[in-house]
Amino acid sequence: MGILKAVRGTRDLLPPETVLWNRVEATARAVFARYGFGEIRTPIFEDTALFARSVGEETDIVSKEMYTWDDRARADSDTAQSLTLRPENTAGVVRAYIEHKLADTGMLQKLFYIGPQFRRERPQRGRYRQFWQIGAEVLGPAWSGSDSPLRDAEVLEMLSTFLNELGVKGWKLELNSVGSSTDRPRYVAALREALAPVKARMNADNQRRAETNPLRVLDSKAPEDQEIIEGLPKIADFLDDASREHFAQVLAALDACGALLGGGRYDGLSEMLGGPKAPGIGFAIGEDRLILTLQAQAEAATEPKLDAFVAPMGIAQNSAALVLAKDLRAAGLGVEVGDGSFRLKKSFEAADKLARRMVILGEDEIASGILTVKDFSAGEQTKVPRAELADFLRG
Ligand code: AMP
Repeated sequence: MGILKAVRGTRDLLPPETVLWNRVEATARAVFARYGFGEIRTPIFEDTALFARSVGEETDIVSKEMYTWDDRARADSDTAQSLTLRPENTAGVVRAYIEHKLADTGMLQKLFYIGPQFRRERPQRGRYRQFWQIGAEVLGPAWSGSDSPLRDAEVLEMLSTFLNELGVKGWKLELNSVGSSTDRPRYVAALREALAPVKARMNADNQRRAETNPLRVLDSKAPEDQEIIEGLPKIADFLDDASREHFAQVLAALDACGALLGGGRYDGLSEMLGGPKAPGIGFAIGEDRLILTLQAQAEAATEPKLDAFVAPMGIAQNSAALVLAKDLRAAGLGVEVGDGSFRLKKSFEAADKLARRMVILGEDEIASGILTVKDFSAGEQTKVPRAELADFLRG
């Protein structure tokens, strides 16, 4: 029998990498909370119809990337319900908004989520079949201010603060307006018309998109099609006065915040799902790619070390070592503990990798209550009374 492995396109996240994942998520939670966002956790699978309706039947996601199966209430049941692993989280958030009648609270809803999403894409570096998104959505009845340009600017400025607090360097925001639900059909019609005579020269994916969802042609990174794409009509020329004014106000507000920096405003999604009119804005950050960016930036890659490695000199000091580790941990320090099979060189190497300092615990140390602390970076050895040890290690 072969060895079982994680399924293609999925992977295990192991320490120390998970330290970075947790830092990213803790930063997201802290920043979003300051902007008044609350966390929402929606189910990982939903009724297939939810995604078909909200993401759109003609999108790549719905047409070929979803993990969908027929689910029976019981093994012997004849009727099955079609379920799908969520390929994105906005649909689930809007469904929950409708289902729990959040509109009736009369309050603007500011929600964020962090969690895995699933798409059957061709795996490569940075592209997985189970990947994580960190996202936020603002929605509410129009009178709660959900369609204000200020809201758009606030969400984008929050994103900028998040990236800055994480220490992401050299990022830039490229901002566009896709107009309103009245501008867009006019633009899509113009795109279709412009694509008709040239699409035969494009790759198979773009030929299909030109028919089903011309806006998606604009997302294509295919080098051979870029020349045609650059020559297509621009949405900026199709915005009506209201959309133009909205966009100008978003830019002005961002400018005022000094933050000219994936996401977007969506209208009509709640109504498409059978809910009340609820304009909204949201974004979804690919966490896997954010982590890759941080790892590429050297300073983020240095993982924090523990404060101390407690090394008992022999089996007789094992219990004392565990007690010392417990006391130091209770004092808020990060501590690893070795055992009596301590062999100076091996133990030293392990301790050096894990911790900034090593606390040596032999017969003498226990008898005298004075411990020997080895500082790895300074290469110094210091005698420290047990009562002062926690403070010393903090320094
Ligand atoms: P989307 O929901 O397609 O707009 O994607 C939003 C973000 O999620 C993208 O910008 C990526 O960073 C990330 N993302 C989408 N699909 C994948 C994937 N298969 N693997 C890793 N990240 C992804």
